[in-house]
Amino acid sequence: MKVLIYSPEEDFSSQLASLRCLAALDVDRWHDFSAARESFEQDRHPLVLVEASTSDGDGLSLCRKIRAVAAKDRHVIVMVAPNDDPLLHRLALQAGADEVIDRNADPDLMHVQIGNAKRRAIRLDESRLVHKATLAIQRAMDRMQLGVTITNMDGTILYTNEADAQMHGYEPEELLGQSVRILSLPDSWKPLTAEQARNMKSWRRETVNVRKDGEEFPVQLLSDVVLDADGEPVAVVTVSEDITERKHMESELGNARDELTCRVRERTTELLEANIRLQHEILERRKAERQLLYEALHDSLTDLPNRALFYDRLSRVLAGSDRHPDHLFAVLYLDLDQYKVVTESLGPDAGDRLLIQASHRLRNSVRPEDTIGSAGSDEFLVLVEDLRDANDVTRVARRIQENLAAPMEIAGQAVFTTASIGIALSSTGYDKPEDMIRDAQIAMFRAQAGTGGGHIIFDREMHERALARMRLEMELRQALEREEFEVHYQPIVELESGRVEGFEALARWKNCDGLPVPPNEFIPLAEEIGTIADLEHQILRRVCCDIQQWRELVGRSVPFVSVNLSGKELANPSFANQVADTLRDFEVDPSWLRFEVTESSIVENSSVAVQILAELRQLGIRVYIDDFGTGYSSLSSLHSYPVDTLKIDQSFVSGDGTNHENWEIVRIIIGLANNLGLEVIAEGIETTEQLDAIRELGCSLGQGFLFSKPVLPIEVERFLGAPEIDIVA
Ligand code: C2E
Ligand code: CA
Ligand code: CA
Repeated sequence: MKVLIYSPEEDFSSQLASLRCLAALDVDRWHDFSAARESFEQDRHPLVLVEASTSDGDGLSLCRKIRAVAAKDRHVIVMVAPNDDPLLHRLALQAGADEVIDRNADPDLMHVQIGNAKRRAIRLDESRLVHKATLAIQRAMDRMQLGVTITNMDGTILYTNEADAQMHGYEPEELLGQSVRILSLPDSWKPLTAEQARNMKSWRRETVNVRKDGEEFPVQLLSDVVLDADGEPVAVVTVSEDITERKHMESELGNARDELTCRVRERTTELLEANIRLQHEILERRKAERQLLYEALHDSLTDLPNRALFYDRLSRVLAGSDRHPDHLFAVLYLDLDQYKVVTESLGPDAGDRLLIQASHRLRNSVRPEDTIGSAGSDEFLVLVEDLRDANDVTRVARRIQENLAAPMEIAGQAVFTTASIGIALSSTGYDKPEDMIRDAQIAMFRAQAGTGGGHIIFDREMHERALARMRLEMELRQALEREEFEVHYQPIVELESGRVEGFEALARWKNCDGLPVPPNEFIPLAEEIGTIADLEHQILRRVCCDIQQWRELVGRSVPFVSVNLSGKELANPSFANQVADTLRDFEVDPSWLRFEVTESSIVENSSVAVQILAELRQLGIRVYIDDFGTGYSSLSSLHSYPVDTLKIDQSFVSGDGTNHENWEIVRIIIGLANNLGLEVIAEGIETTEQLDAIRELGCSLGQGFLFSKPVLPIEVERFLGAPEIDIVA
């Protein structure tokens, strides 16, 4: 606290300042009136000690001045004057001094008196500060956004700020002295007991308050009990906030959340259901895919892996053999020898049953880890692994044949079957499964070509042959594309006169190295690879083209040309039409053309073949049976074939004429032909002895090296010019 001391005398002011009661206070001492006045105006000292003297009126003036500028109850002014001057005392009190003490008093007394004044000044100063603070607090509260209410313990409102009054629809003055009940719902407010109040910490709650106009609104309240210096509760301060907006938002948020939750739940349920459906569909589809895959890789009849799956397994084993070069394994290619006979005699169902039973027996003939596959129709594949040597696989083949040999009960009949087995061993050295299977098949064909029911292991020589065949096949396809086939003609001669009646057209082909390939090689190959129709069509066109040229040379009397026909053509129902078209294209008369077919090719295709031959004959083309006597046709059915001529196979004619059995057959054939009204041509006449013998038997036409080898088309013209061959010479 600040103290101002004024005395004209330096000694006296210092005496005052040194009083014990003023120790530790901030004392300003002045001798000059103006300086003292200015000091007060600046610092407003709560305690002022002023000396009053008769000689100097400044002390009294200072006192008056202070009272004039400052509120009376804010400063304690003590004047010091000699006790023996009552007038001066009175003047001092009149000037505004609170107290006058004796200037000459004992310092102890002065200490007590000024000490009391000091305490009064301190209290005044404190209350001034409190007042200032209260004002500041009140002003701050009035500016607050939150409502503040102070009540005493029975709920009477002692203070309320602007915000709180406004929140409840009142002016602050209206609320002062009112019970806080008017702000809350009826019966909701209860005073705190003294006990509760003492122990109460600040408490927060949400409740509903009521505005002046009766409107209810949600509030959040935070209350605190105010204790006095003795710890007794004297008031409750409550801070309130109108939370209408917040509640509103909360409820909207709540609604939105509920709605969202609801929607999420609905959507989740939908998704779950969809997911279940999807899972189900996926499972179904997988099942279907697995089934499809299974079906794609298995033979539907025997349920065995099909060629594709077998390939796949074999490629894996082949790939593994890089790492284990000692691993010996084999592919067995099986063909059931009796399948065709069974289907033809007992029907296709019986054939199916034969295949199923055979597949079961196969299964029982090999180890479970060996793979059995179906190669289509009556062919099977077996992959046998972990062999010690080639003898092992021979044993397996034998076991298979033994197991198959036992009769099978099919359609009430005991059926016996055997299998031809071709074997390819991994030691041959394979990279591709198709090569290994191909070689096993080649070996199987060899086994089949034997007696059947045997097995043959593919070897080097077969390999070479297979390679050569492959090369030939490629070259043949190329030759077909480039139309490289030629035709040579061999005269057919009237045996009595030596006149050339016609020619047999014989296909000729040279491979890439310019070497002639015999037709007995390339014709069966073309049949096998399905290009024979193309080939024969080319031959036929060439023949027609040659006939056309000869006609230009010799007019209408051209000799006939007989063209060999593969058995495959006798299965093609539109063959006769195609021939008719070709003849028309080249303006060739059908009577100038003949076709040669073997008896076996008629037997194989029977009804279709007969139909086709009849159509050809209707066109005016004559039909020969070639190589007669070598086939299986029963002589009794010969009369039912629509043919004109029999060509006696050269095997009966060849030789030195001492084979009487052959001549006997030739005689029978000629007799038969005469009976049926058929013409006969003897093939392969090489010697005059043969010619004589044939002539003696009454055969009118012949063909053979004795007359001429097959010649180039250009050489044919020679025969056209001189149609008779001097056969007797
Ligand atoms: P093929 O129809 O029996 O033809 C007669 C074969 O006997 C011809 O052999 C011919 O050159 C040969 N030949 C003729 N006279 C004699 C002889 O006095 N002694 C001997 N040893 N042989 C003689 P090529 O030309 O080698 O034809 C062989 C077979 O090829 C033919 O036998 C025929 O079946 C077939 N062929 C030839 N050209 C064609 C064709 O264009 N189409 C069809 N499908 N087969 C054809
Ligand atoms: Ca022929
Ligand atoms: Ca022949």
